[in-house]
Amino acid sequence: MRSWASTYIPPLDSKFAIPQLHLQNTASRSLETLPIQDTYRMYVCGITPYDATHLGHANTYLAFDLVNRFLRARGSKVSYVQNITDIDDPLLERAIRDGVDWKDLATSQIELFRGDMVDLHILPPDHYIGAVEAIPLVLTAIERLSAADATYLVDSDIYFDVHTDKNFGTRSHLSKEKSIEIFAQRGGDPNREGKRDPLDALLWMQQRPNEPGWDSDIGKGRPGWHIECCAIALHYLDPNPESSYSIDIQGGGSDLIFPHHEISAAQSSVMNGKEFSHLYVHAGMIGLNGEKMSKSKGNLIFVSKLIQDGNDPMAIRLALLSHHYQEDFMWTEDVLIEATNLLNKIRIALSREEVPPTDEVINAIVKALSENLDTPTAISHLNKWSDLALSHSQSDAKKMGNPGELSRAIDSFLGIAL
Ligand code: ZN
Repeated sequence: MRSWASTYIPPLDSKFAIPQLHLQNTASRSLETLPIQDTYRMYVCGITPYDATHLGHANTYLAFDLVNRFLRARGSKVSYVQNITDIDDPLLERAIRDGVDWKDLATSQIELFRGDMVDLHILPPDHYIGAVEAIPLVLTAIERLSAADATYLVDSDIYFDVHTDKNFGTRSHLSKEKSIEIFAQRGGDPNREGKRDPLDALLWMQQRPNEPGWDSDIGKGRPGWHIECCAIALHYLDPNPESSYSIDIQGGGSDLIFPHHEISAAQSSVMNGKEFSHLYVHAGMIGLNGEKMSKSKGNLIFVSKLIQDGNDPMAIRLALLSHHYQEDFMWTEDVLIEATNLLNKIRIALSREEVPPTDEVINAIVKALSENLDTPTAISHLNKWSDLALSHSQSDAKKMGNPGELSRAIDSFLGIAL
């Protein structure tokens, strides 16, 4: 599927040392240092296109955009793949509710998503793959799981036996009871009769009346969600046979830790005989005025709407960066107003010909980002520097900074074009 336009990343002068990146790994529950590599393989779970990009999505893709930018700035290549679940229950349900064709609904929402990503300066994935176009890959993956004796039938639907992965559960750290509860809330079917374990996941669902289906040797039907990501990641990220992991970073929102990432990783481990990802990295959830932002509550804030209302996309980006990506965050109008004011202040400060020294603030921003993408600290350094640049107390002798270089560093690492 077509991705979206890329953005130029200005290089940083070689006088700046860029430290190694540290990220919190959900599976090990610790902060880990990414080893130095020529290429990193990163997979971030994409949207189900039945709604445009809301701030929760933006927050997730923004976090992994920072990872992408940081690793590239260090001189590595980042092979980045994202999927789009363009066939799934929620999409079909929404299309029926709104009386539209599910394909038209998906196409329109994917187009809006692309526009939002461009506006927010989020670097595109190298491969942006839809579930429908990935069906041949899914079928091959199911064959491999069947060959490993990890599948069984319930009626004619095919299920993955999660316990064929000896590490099942070690990435999400939940009790069995909690796992079942969350599984049911997030599209799973723990109570279906005939399953060996309530958590076993659907790989291939035979066509239901009035639903789309694709022909295959295992019957006309459609793929399950978890196998889609695993099949796409293993194919397009082309795992390095020398590595003990198939990929380096599996990313997504924290609502994907279980069951999605746990089951996807379990399937990949059974297929490849090694752990799916080195790091499992998760972004927090965004709430609104004290409530969780969710489709069911109808309180989603869409990026496209904020932009239509006249907000600068860079202010939206800065507003999201004002909190740490891993923390759940409550969005309010004030957050956006503050970010807009700060953005203006930074722009005015950078427009001055003579500014305070900039090397120190650039180093501080890069260091903060290296420490698990600590954007609040990075922004606080930038804020202080801007205050200093705009204060009259600064003596002329100290105005030796290079505003162009700072501007390029902000663009490169924080993705904020000024
Ligand atoms: Zn996924």
